[in-house]
Amino acid sequence: MKSFDVPFVYRSPLISAIKKKRKDLDRMKKDFSPTVLDFGPVKIYLARHFGFCYGVENAIDIAFRTIEENGDKRIFLLSEMIHNPQVNADLKASGVEFLQDNSGKQVIPFESLTADDIVLIPAFGTTLTIEKKLREIGLQVEQYNTTCPFVEKVWNRSELIAKSQYTIVIHGKPTHEETRATFSHAAASGPSVVVKDMSQTIELAKYISGEKPSAQFYTEFKNQYSEGFDVTKDLQRIGVVNQTTMLASDTQAIADYLKETVTTRYGLTEQTIKERFADTRDTLCYATNDNQTAVSGMLQTEADFAIVVGGYNSSNTSHLVELFEEKLPTYFINSDEKILSQHTIMHYNFHTNMELVTEKYLPEKQPIRVLITSGASCPDALVEGVIKKLAGFYPASKSIDEIFELFRN
Ligand code: SF4
Repeated sequence: MKSFDVPFVYRSPLISAIKKKRKDLDRMKKDFSPTVLDFGPVKIYLARHFGFCYGVENAIDIAFRTIEENGDKRIFLLSEMIHNPQVNADLKASGVEFLQDNSGKQVIPFESLTADDIVLIPAFGTTLTIEKKLREIGLQVEQYNTTCPFVEKVWNRSELIAKSQYTIVIHGKPTHEETRATFSHAAASGPSVVVKDMSQTIELAKYISGEKPSAQFYTEFKNQYSEGFDVTKDLQRIGVVNQTTMLASDTQAIADYLKETVTTRYGLTEQTIKERFADTRDTLCYATNDNQTAVSGMLQTEADFAIVVGGYNSSNTSHLVELFEEKLPTYFINSDEKILSQHTIMHYNFHTNMELVTEKYLPEKQPIRVLITSGASCPDALVEGVIKKLAGFYPASKSIDEIFELFRN
């Protein structure tokens, strides 16, 4: 893969060395067992795959290069560059202003922009309407577009599905920037509808099977279907794509459920299902797949608790938390500063959208065993900070340099 110029402050020499060593030993990425960092009283099990993905590194590289090369210009970002508070704060500190908040609410009006400005499109991509607006102002849309190629792949898949006369069902969070962008691109190709989870899928299936009156669809799926959507016709042939960062098992279950519904409704078989259900695989990106597989690989290891580091509004990160939570106590934090002491940790509950404080999170026995990973938009330096903090609570721990030596070539 291409390598990017990412500010050194986001890197961790220790984690870069670990990742390099694992990569050298397993070029085909077949071994998803964690890397063990044995500090003595603390054993850290670090995921095989975590941290900045291709799309995030690409976006960060373009953004900081743009700032460096255009000191005389006003630079804006459509919304958060990626879902990481530190990176967004650094961009703001460099003078970049955000035009919209995460939900798409306008903070700075488009009318205040001029053709001399620069507007960066974030890694999630944007809607065709916004792209058109920027072009009309005379802004260079292509030059400063950091849309991830894996997101564009979903748009291309949607177009193909629509060309074959299937309606596009998008599994994604309806208000997430990426899903809003994908929905906009899909809707330009053909009828499209968004489902956020299995419970909405079950309700959508009732319109396919005829269990629910058609008229109800328009209120139940308000703001989630394309203009002119005709529920009596547009659910007869469907294909599923998804936001690149969803939970793989959820996406599979949703596609299976809809396939089953269509099969039953039209009396189809494995041979004839293609007549009404597009034969596609999920559109999760490689980073989502690898990070989730790495967590599954870690769950074979006996441990006391797990820590997931990442932005609280990061979709891919919250799915990693979800996987861990099924098996052991899990703390979702956005930096080592949330580890308040060896007795107290402040962490985020993404089910309730609230931060809470847990006491006595460190067991009294030794060694303690901790599983650690991070989301695709989390700098490795933050993960190193967490490792250092935990090991630092135990005076008998080996130093970071001693651990580093083990991974240096
Ligand atoms: S998580 Fe996947 S789709 Fe999103 S920016 Fe990273 S590589 Fe691209």
